[in-house]
Parts: sequence; C-alpha cells; structure tokens
Amino acid sequence: MIRFDNFQVQYRSLKKDIDGAIGRVLARGWFILGKEVARFEEEFAAYIGTRYAVGVASGTEAIALSLMVLDIGPGCEVITTAMTAFPTITGILQAGAKPVVVDICEETGLIDVEQIEAKINKRTAAIVPVHLYGQSCDMERIETIAGKYRLPVVEDCAQSCGTTYEARRTGSLGRCGVFSFYPTKNLGAYGDAGAVTTNDQRLDGKLRRLRNYGQSDRYRHERFGLNSRLDEIQAALLRVKLKHLDAWNGKRRDIAASYRRRLRAVTCLRENPGSASNHHLFVVKSPARDRLLAHLLAHGVQALIHYPIPVHRQRAFPGQKRETLPASERFSRMVLSLPIYPELSERNLSRIIQVVNAFTV
Ligand SMILES: *Cc1c(COP(=O)(O)O)cnc(C)c1O
Repeated sequence: MIRFDNFQVQYRSLKKDIDGAIGRVLARGWFILGKEVARFEEEFAAYIGTRYAVGVASGTEAIALSLMVLDIGPGCEVITTAMTAFPTITGILQAGAKPVVVDICEETGLIDVEQIEAKINKRTAAIVPVHLYGQSCDMERIETIAGKYRLPVVEDCAQSCGTTYEARRTGSLGRCGVFSFYPTKNLGAYGDAGAVTTNDQRLDGKLRRLRNYGQSDRYRHERFGLNSRLDEIQAALLRVKLKHLDAWNGKRRDIAASYRRRLRAVTCLRENPGSASNHHLFVVKSPARDRLLAHLLAHGVQALIHYPIPVHRQRAFPGQKRETLPASERFSRMVLSLPIYPELSERNLSRIIQVVNAFTV
C-alpha cells in the first residue's frame, strides 16, 4: 500500500537533530514558555515576514485567540468559506462568534470573492479567508473589500505554511495569520501546536497574555485568559524542521508538476497566478470520485477526501441550514486527494499516476 503520509521516513533523515533538540529540552528541565519557544517565535516571524509570532497550542486555538484579541465574540459574525477543515469553524465558535460561510470558486476550491459582500452586514466583524490546500486566496481583492467595510482579515494559513502571494508569504498579508503545526501540515510538530503572526505590537502583547491565563506578570491576572501555549519540546523540534521547510515545499512542487503533466482521467485544480502554493494537498476532481477512490484502494494507493461535507452541511454548524451553496456541494462530491509529501519516491509517484490513468469513468 502506498500510504497517504509517511512520517517515519522524515524522522529517520532528521533523527540526530530531532533527538538532540528534544534531549536539550529534557536536560535543561524547563518545559513551558522558555528559550525554545522564544527562539522559534523569532525564527518563525522572520520566515513569514512579520514583526511578531506567538506560539499557541493548536491552529484551532490560534483562530479563536486571534478573534478574541480583536474583541470579536458573542453578537459578531465572521465570514469564511464553506470548503475548509471544520476547525476553522470551531475556532470561530470558540471565540463566541457566529460563522457565516460563502460559496467557493469551483476551479480552485477557494472562497468566491465575488460573493463576500452579499454576506456583510452590521454584525460582521472579520473575514477569515482560508488558503486551502496550500494555494493563497486572492488577497488583493479580499483586502479591498475588508478595507471598504473596515474589517480585519485573519488569514487561516493552517495549510499554507510557506506559500507566497505576490512574493509575500501568507500570514503576513492580513491583520493576523493563524498556523497549525498538526503533524500532517507542511511544517508538522510531533503533537499539537500552532502560532499566530502579526505586525501589530498591541495584538502581540494581548495574544501573549491571553494564551497564558491572562497573566501580565508572574501571578498578576488583569483579564480573562486561556491555557493555550506552545510547549518547549514542540518548539525545539519545529526549529529543526523550519530550516528544511523550503526544500520540502520545493519537493512537493516537483511532485505536483509531475502530477499535472502526467495525469489524465481526472481534472486538476486551477492555479492562481500570483500565488506560489506550498502544495499541502494535491486535489483532483472526477465525476466518478467514489469509484475512483475504490479503484485506487484496490490497487494499493491510499487517497483521502478533503472534504466530503461542506461545513454548512455539518450538524455542528449553526445557521444557514436551508441555504444551498451549489459550488461547494458539487465540489465536495468530486474531489479526491492523492499522496503528496517530500519523501514520496519517484517509483511510487509513477505507480500512483499509472493507477489513476488506468481508471475509466
Ligand atoms: C488543520 C487545520 C486547522 C486546525 O488546526 P489544528 O492545529 O488541528 O487545531 C484549521 N484550519 C485549517 C484550514 C486546517 O487545515
């Protein structure tokens, strides 16, 4: 079976550095908010191109914390896309706000910018574009709309670590960028982890207090806060991995180019000019998706579906129950994700392409 992910290969290639980093933390005996987190935050901010980065416990909480420091909560609406990982919605709900979703552009899977304005009203408090599968949204047009209505933009970069838009990295384009280092992401920890990036010094300070029980100084609590910290062990190994991220994303780009060149029998998504994807997922469309998935499994290729149910069709989603978002609904029935990761061998890549191309609708 060619698996969708393979984390052991990467670990074997970095074993010395990873083990060294973890050992360093254990020997130092300081596990929460120490040197490793501080250094990772500096290095990650420099990589993304923002003044600040704040390490937090997960991507979901990075979204919740970002909205909370922007004073967005109960009574507020937050606009996002119907085609995303459900945690985008969970983060909005955790902040106490109401998610409002917009349909997508079927060629890219990204939020349809044309449809954003129709969802804006006086309760709208923010826009959360999701750089789905690694491709950047059209940030210029989103910023234009946000500017017109004076709304902050919180970029969901959970899938777009390293992606650029007009030569700037996602996460440096809006008021905040939120990142997940869940193990499957392009920069993956060995557990849960996340970060928020921003150029706003005041937000940076508020985020630091909010992630740490609302503590301003040791044992001084001025405001409500959570426990949502990045830990030293994860930060130490993320520092090792960050150095390899561009090279890994380059390998993914080569694999994606190969898929685009050699795949028949399926439709690849359209690439936005102006965005250089980190190729987090390689998603294709087929009108016979379920049979294609069964065909792949029967021939030893593991594929997955991102995502089989648009978020407004999920039971846990509040509102928009009777609304039809036709592009998202069609898209979710046609998409299939093929294996893509830096360590995928040329042999396995060719095998996957051969199996897909042997499929007849
Ligand atoms: C993974 C992901 C998240 C959530 O990140 P966690 O670290 O798992 O909480 C949020 N949004 C998107 C688009 C994601 O892919």
